[in-house]
Amino acid sequence: MLLVAGDPELDRHDSGAGHPERAARVRSALRGVRESLVADAVTQLEPRRATDEELTRVHPRRYLDALRAFCLSGGGDLDPDTTVVPGSWDTALLAAGAVLAAVDALGAGSGEAAFVAARPPGHHALADRAMGFCLLNNVAVAAASLVGRGERVLVVDWDVHHGNGTQDIFWNEPAVLYVSTHQWPLYPGTGRMEETGGPKAPGTTLNVPLPPGATGDVLLAAFDEVVAPVVERFSPTWVLVSAGFDAHRADPQAGLELTSGDFAALTERVRHYAPAPGRVVAVLEGGYDLDALRLSVSATVSALLGERDAPEAPSSGGPGRDVLAAVRRARARVEADG
Ligand SMILES: [Zn+2]
Repeated sequence: MLLVAGDPELDRHDSGAGHPERAARVRSALRGVRESLVADAVTQLEPRRATDEELTRVHPRRYLDALRAFCLSGGGDLDPDTTVVPGSWDTALLAAGAVLAAVDALGAGSGEAAFVAARPPGHHALADRAMGFCLLNNVAVAAASLVGRGERVLVVDWDVHHGNGTQDIFWNEPAVLYVSTHQWPLYPGTGRMEETGGPKAPGTTLNVPLPPGATGDVLLAAFDEVVAPVVERFSPTWVLVSAGFDAHRADPQAGLELTSGDFAALTERVRHYAPAPGRVVAVLEGGYDLDALRLSVSATVSALLGERDAPEAPSSGGPGRDVLAAVRRARARVEADG
């Protein structure tokens, strides 16, 4: 098991006093890994910086130049939620590079799975715009790198928010299947079940928008009944997980009701979507309650190696089953058209 993480004490991305997306999150995630059942099996790698060539597969050079210049000239607000300082640029390069380092290392045969504990998160970042705490789309940069090598990439995004950036970047990319479960309605307002991919890649986006209060049993049913058949048909060669933990019931940002036990069960499902060991990377996205984050990361990394570590019981009984039926019907229409 590979852990790719830098030293949070050296993190220079200061998002502002009281901001929920803070370096303490990475400290909590690392504590979760250390407390997990698989702590003795973890090898830690330092992240590297994403290169220009890797970043420009996703982000236009003029956006990268402008972001770098904005940060280095002192920073400020990129949107109402997203503030940067000079150190933010380097931190962002390391977060994108951390996922690439995980893919490189697994590709070279050095582990069964990887977890990336880095910040800022990435899944709201569009090709040419920072938003929602995200500067560079870390998972998209790694997915694009894999696609450049002829791989077929499944991105599973279970962050409580829809990953509008990742969806948009791969909207017309047939080699990437983007699957998101998220609360609806919620920021950023995308992720309807009718969003299923662009004209060059129909059916390669799958959104499962869930009502507030949805519990782990509904999420698991979504994966088993809706997601699994689509993944099987797509037949990915790599799996990247946008692993946000803000769907935890303790998280202040949203209203889903998951526990760390549910994240263990979700991870157990998702790791089997990979065609072989060494082809799955889970990447930290959101997750703003530090204790929930620690427990959820612990459960997730254990489950990545097939160990069941459930400090909290799985949750059940919440709403959303009707949504699954509607998503299945929407999916059947897409497949009939395709
Ligand atoms: Zn989120």
